[in-house]
Amino acid sequence: MGNFGSWKKPVSEHVYAESVVWQCSKCVCWSREEFVHVQQPVCPMCDSEMNRVTKNIRVE
Ligand SMILES: [Zn+2]
Repeated sequence: MGNFGSWKKPVSEHVYAESVVWQCSKCVCWSREEFVHVQQPVCPMCDSEMNRVTKNIRVE
């Protein structure tokens, strides 16, 4: 009796947002802009110049 099976579980969806990040010009390494506090960061992996780009990253 009763339909207790109708409860909907909250769907855990990941949220993505366009964010400004520093992307390495040589490898796949990147870092969110808010964690970078220098004018021209270099890649921690390969020491290359990093470029400011907009990336669709997971925020939740
Ligand atoms: Zn790199």
